[in-house]
Amino acid sequence: MTAINFDNSYSRLPDNFFARQDPDVSPAPVLIALNEPLARRLGIDPTFLKSKDGLALLSGQSVADGSKPLAMVYAGHQFGGWSPRLGDGRALLLGEVIGTDGIRYDIQLKGSGRTLFSRGGDGKAAIGPVIREYVVSEAMAALGVPTTRALAAIATGEDVMRNAALPGGIVTRVAQSHIRVGTFQYFASHDDVDALRVLSDYVIDRHFPDVRNSENPIREMFRSIALRQASLIADWMRFGFIHGVMNTDNMQIAGETIDYGPCAFMEEFDALQVFSSIDQKGRYAWARQATMAHWNLTRLAETLLPIWGLPEDEAVAEAEDVLSEFGARFNAGFQKAFAQKFGLPADHKDNTEFIQKALQMMQAQHVDFTLFFSHLRRMEKAGHADKFSALFDDPKVGVEWLSVWRQMVNTSGIDLSDSQARMDAANPIYIPRNHRVEQAIQAGLKGDYSVMQRLAKVLENPMSEQADAAEFENPPEPDQRVTQTFCGT
Ligand code: AMP
Ligand code: MG
Repeated sequence: MTAINFDNSYSRLPDNFFARQDPDVSPAPVLIALNEPLARRLGIDPTFLKSKDGLALLSGQSVADGSKPLAMVYAGHQFGGWSPRLGDGRALLLGEVIGTDGIRYDIQLKGSGRTLFSRGGDGKAAIGPVIREYVVSEAMAALGVPTTRALAAIATGEDVMRNAALPGGIVTRVAQSHIRVGTFQYFASHDDVDALRVLSDYVIDRHFPDVRNSENPIREMFRSIALRQASLIADWMRFGFIHGVMNTDNMQIAGETIDYGPCAFMEEFDALQVFSSIDQKGRYAWARQATMAHWNLTRLAETLLPIWGLPEDEAVAEAEDVLSEFGARFNAGFQKAFAQKFGLPADHKDNTEFIQKALQMMQAQHVDFTLFFSHLRRMEKAGHADKFSALFDDPKVGVEWLSVWRQMVNTSGIDLSDSQARMDAANPIYIPRNHRVEQAIQAGLKGDYSVMQRLAKVLENPMSEQADAAEFENPPEPDQRVTQTFCGT
């Protein structure tokens, strides 16, 4: 029996979709994290991945039977500027497996060396971004947000040159696929209509088989992609997540969060918050994410016009209808999510105004976003009312707001136990706070992975209070604050 049952559909696509490439050999790999439940879901025995042979596959020392490593080609708009060819410059698709859930998953090494698409880069990853991706993507999964997953993280035993020499690492990423808006853009920019048809067929078969027999499968594929994004962005926003680099090459077609570069969870609430050092104009700020997803989807629609099957003006009109539906779906998702966070029924007529005012108040008072909601849900437990009001610049404002909130809940007609259940399901106690991620990275740079492992463990159950984990709720001390994050490159 082979250890991993690869079944590689992407490698059967035409040659211009990818470049074959084997990974570099890591000199002295060490396994620093392994996602055992995910391994089992992929039909892979975790004991195998921990063995010498397993580690050899995760580190490029050997290529598994049935794996045909390849780098995918794509283009993209980065911060609005067009890059005609990006592609997997530091990642290799090892192949695909069918999970025990029946879903086809890509298994990809990220940081395994140069490919045809590396341009000036070394194709490697430093241990910091590997730790960040492992911790944050798994935290997102535990929060119930669609995301690529991390199967394993290793240290390679080789230094990579950044500003200084840093220990190298590889994260094994798992995704429903790695096809992006930028994949469509690449072929569209070459006027390669045949490739666009092949790619769309592939995407429909793999991700949206239900649209195959619809009147216009291309339109319905676009619609399905757009609606998944609408729900994804609402999910990001309800947890204060700021992706940071929503370029079209980082928007995945299957609707999973992808590319954990300069991402961050907001602490003090600020709708226009950005963390990424390269996002100087705030293009990808928390509150702008739906607008930017809309922009990216518009770029996707443009690539599909030649295969829409209608005269261009009619195709454009249909695409615009889908884009309005995206907007409406996002707004509904956002309102529903925040109603739940406040313990309100989904459809109360005053919700929109209440939510908007509450967010404005939170911003003016510099309130920690996650603690605001996590104390709100525990308001009836000893100590939380005080902790709640202590979040406000002016605690009196907190106390006054609470009575407005109670009034709103009481007049909304919701049963109090329902209200409580809604808040408990929507408001996490633990998120990957930036300073915690930073501590995990700093320890990892010194070869101590226990900090990362502990953090990852706490984040496996973000919604329920854990014994001995109180310090993971806390915001950073002033000297621990992380105000900027950087791309993994
Ligand atoms: P990102 O900002 O992570 O979305 O990456 C944008 C592009 O740069 C993608 O084509 C990556 O493959 C490529 N890239 C990022 N880091 C490296 C690296 N260290 N070596 C080669 N290519 C890279
Ligand atoms: Mg990327």
